[in-house]
Amino acid sequence: MALTSPQPSTIVDNTPVRVRFAPSPTGSLHIGGVRTALYNYLLAKKTGGQFIIRIEDTDQTRFVPGAEDYIYEALDWCGIKADEGVRQGGPYGPYRQSERKPMYRQYADQLVADGHAYYAFDTKEELDEMRERLTKARVASPQYNSITRVQMKNSLTLPADEVAARLAGGDPYVIRLKVPRKEEIRLNDLIRGWVMVHSATLDDKVLMKSDGMPTYHLANVVDDYLMKITHVIRGEEWLPSAPTHVLLYKFLGWEDVMPKFAHLPLILKPDGNGKLSKRDGDALGFPVFPLEWTEQETGKVVKGFREEGFLPEAVVNFLALLGWNNGTHQEVYSMDELIQEFTAERIGKSGTKFDIAKARWFNQQYLHAKTSEQQAEYLLADLAKEGITTTNEYAAQVCALVQERTVFSGDFWKEGSFLFVAPTEFDATVAATKWSSDAAAVLTKFGADLAEYPSITADEAKHLLHEITEGLGIKIGKVMQAIRLAITGRAAGPDLMQVIAILGPAEVAQRCAYAIKTLATHLQPVA
Ligand code: GLU
Repeated sequence: MALTSPQPSTIVDNTPVRVRFAPSPTGSLHIGGVRTALYNYLLAKKTGGQFIIRIEDTDQTRFVPGAEDYIYEALDWCGIKADEGVRQGGPYGPYRQSERKPMYRQYADQLVADGHAYYAFDTKEELDEMRERLTKARVASPQYNSITRVQMKNSLTLPADEVAARLAGGDPYVIRLKVPRKEEIRLNDLIRGWVMVHSATLDDKVLMKSDGMPTYHLANVVDDYLMKITHVIRGEEWLPSAPTHVLLYKFLGWEDVMPKFAHLPLILKPDGNGKLSKRDGDALGFPVFPLEWTEQETGKVVKGFREEGFLPEAVVNFLALLGWNNGTHQEVYSMDELIQEFTAERIGKSGTKFDIAKARWFNQQYLHAKTSEQQAEYLLADLAKEGITTTNEYAAQVCALVQERTVFSGDFWKEGSFLFVAPTEFDATVAATKWSSDAAAVLTKFGADLAEYPSITADEAKHLLHEITEGLGIKIGKVMQAIRLAITGRAAGPDLMQVIAILGPAEVAQRCAYAIKTLATHLQPVA
C-alpha cells in the first residue's frame, strides 16, 4: 500500500457525525478496541452527532457467548454510552448483524446483476488444490483473484445454462466480488492521507457465504450505508480491507455518500516491538482488557483494569492520550474536556507504546483528586470483606494519612491495614537490624507514660518521645525505626506521630507491650 500525501484531509467543520463502533463478539474486548470506541464517541459528542454500537456477528463460527454483554459492560464502565445500538435501539435497527440477514441479499444480487460480483461453486478441495498449485509455482500469496478466477468454477467461466442449473438445483455457492484487473483504488484517510492500492493486489473476496450469511465486508459496507454512517474510525488492522470497501461503495452506486475513513495507529508493546496483543497481558504483567475475562477454552480468568483497581476516568484519560494529544502539555482531562478538545486531526500517525506506568500515574491523579470521604468508600468496602467495622470518620482519617502511598483504590487497605489490626508479626529485616535494648527501654517508658493521656496529638507524641529518649540518653534517630516496627509491624509507612495520634494512647501502649515481649528474642546473642 503506498502513501503519497503527507497531508490527510480533515474534519474541519463541526457538522454532526454519525459514527459507529462495530465489534465482533469473538472474545473479550482488547483495550485498543476501547480506545477505538472512545475516539468514535468523543467525535460524536463533540459534533452533537450520534455514536452507534453495531454488533458484527456474521461469522457464527467465531461467536463467543458472553462477549457481547462483556463489550457493553466494558463500555458502560468507561462511561461510553451509545445513542443507538443493540441495547438502546434506534431508527436504523436491528443493530445486530445476524438479525439483519435478510437485508443483505438484495445488494449481493444487485452486484451480480451489474457484473461486479459472481457466483462461485468451487468446493473446499478445489480451492485447496488451486492454492497448492500456485504455491508450487512459487506464487507468494495464492489467492482467488482476477487471474486465478478464470481457472475456477464460477459464473464467469461456466456456461450460463450450467450456472442456471446449478443454482436451480441448489448447488452450494458463494458470491464473490469481481475485483477489476487493473485499477488504482484511492482513499483519503483522515489520519494517513491518500492511500493508493492497485487492484491486482486484491483478491475476489467472498461477499455472501453458502449459508446466505454475508461476510464482514458486505455487511459492514451495507450497514454503514443504511445506518448513514459519515465517518469510519477503526483500527489500522482494517486498512487493508478499506480498498475492498471503496470498491463496494463504487459498485453499489454509493460513492457520493461513502464515509470518510480514519484508521487509528496501533497500540504497541511497551518496547515498541509489535502490536500489543490480547495475549500480552500475562507475559508483561499488566491488564490488556478493561474488565475481567474468563477464557472459554481454558476457564482461565484474566484480570482487567477494573479488577486491578483502576478507575474508569483514569483508563479513559490514559486511552485518549494513547494516540492523540491536543498539542499542549495538559495531560489530565475529564470526559467533558476530552469531548471539547478532541479533534481527529491530532490523532498521531505512528503506533504508540503502551506505558503501564503512565496508566498508574493517571490513576493516582484521579484517586488523589477525590476527598478523603470518597476514598473512604473504597476502604470501607475492603474492610467489610475483612469483617472489620469502623466509622466513616475513622476510615476517612486513615485515607488522608496513607493517601500519598496509594495508586489504586485497594491501596488504602493495603497501606493502612495496621491502623485496624495490631501487628502480630514484624518485618524481619528491621527486627534483626534495628531492635535493641535501647528501643525496648524507650518503648517501655513510652507505654507507661501514655497511660496519662486520654488522647494524644501528633505533636504531643513527638514531644513525649523526645523527652523520653533525652531522659534515657538515647539518640532518637537510633530507635525511630524500631518504634515504627513495634507500632505498625512494618519497615515503612506514613508519618508515625500521626499514626500514634489516630490509634490513640491505649492501643499504642498495648502494641508497645506486645512488641517488647515478642521481639525480646532478637536481643538474645546468636548461639
Ligand atoms: N467487526 C470489525 C471488528 O471486529 C469492525 C471493523 C470496522 O470497524 O469496520 O473490529
